[in-house]
Amino acid sequence: MNMVSKDIYLAAQLVYNEEIIAIPTETVYGLAGNIYSEKAIRSIFDLKKRPLINPLIVHIGSKDQLEDLTTEIPDLAKKLIDKFWPGSLTLVLKKKETVPNFVTGGKNTVAVRMPNHPITLKLLDLLPFPLAAPSANPFGSISPTSASHVATYFDKKIPMVLDGGSCQNGIESTIIGFENNLPVLYRLGAIAIEEIENEIGPVSIKNFEEQNPSAPGMMAKHYAPETETLVVSNIHDGINYYRGKKIGLLLFNSKISDDSIMHQEVLSLNGDLKEAASHLYAALHRLDALNLDVIIAEKFPDNQLGRAINDRLKRAAASKNNLNIVNQ
Ligand code: AMP
Ligand code: MG
Repeated sequence: MNMVSKDIYLAAQLVYNEEIIAIPTETVYGLAGNIYSEKAIRSIFDLKKRPLINPLIVHIGSKDQLEDLTTEIPDLAKKLIDKFWPGSLTLVLKKKETVPNFVTGGKNTVAVRMPNHPITLKLLDLLPFPLAAPSANPFGSISPTSASHVATYFDKKIPMVLDGGSCQNGIESTIIGFENNLPVLYRLGAIAIEEIENEIGPVSIKNFEEQNPSAPGMMAKHYAPETETLVVSNIHDGINYYRGKKIGLLLFNSKISDDSIMHQEVLSLNGDLKEAASHLYAALHRLDALNLDVIIAEKFPDNQLGRAINDRLKRAAASKNNLNIVNQ
């Protein structure tokens, strides 16, 4: 049997029986299980090889389900929900005792989002419980934005990948929490911080902590290809440094004319940052499959979704052995 399928009822039956399946969302594919099943949640951590202390995002199918999970919803969170749900915004809120600690990594907060994908909304609608669903990739690897990416990672290890096509936004959700009632951004993502600040005013950024990161996406090395990767402000400097090697390029809006380059990926010919973000991971997957010596990515404009792209590229490139010449 092909594990990739569009059968929503089979998907519902599997998660109902405490199995783990992959689900499509508008951000990336997730490895989904019943939040109230310890067996299911343990399987998610095992499959991903993710440290148990890293909490999972809980996915709900309607806004009113939030009340089952949280003790208090700040006014600013309500504003964000009105504007961005269903959508690519995750909120970290104080959790009810009924939310299992094995989902939240022992924290007294829970991360929740209502995804904006018709198939997964329909699946959630069929279920009497929310789904925990971290990205469907082994811990630290490139996130999956198509059913075939997931099938490659988890061939025969999960019973089903619910096929919802290519992910429209293609980059993880933006994560916002509240500390002393003030909004804090924990992860740059598919909704630009500028858009969020338009709704609720200034948001402080805690996106990067080397020590004791409170989210895995905050760790220095994450979203990483197997191939050595670097990010450069000037693509020609990078090419010259690696001259003679098998080079692949990840570029914003135009190719470089240089016959020695093995492969070039352009993320948006129109120079549209949202389009570029949606193509980022698929391009990294393709580059990583080519047996290159090095992937050289150009630094993106540092505004709107360019910031989230730069964040992922920086983590893709982070490694002890890498020459990382990002200017920052
Ligand atoms: P993933 O779905 O693998 O991209 O990861 C989900 C993200 O949500 C991770 O970065 C988590 O650490 C983050 N997250 C989940 N729950 C919390 C929480 N209670 N506080 C802070 N971050 C959280
Ligand atoms: Mg992830």
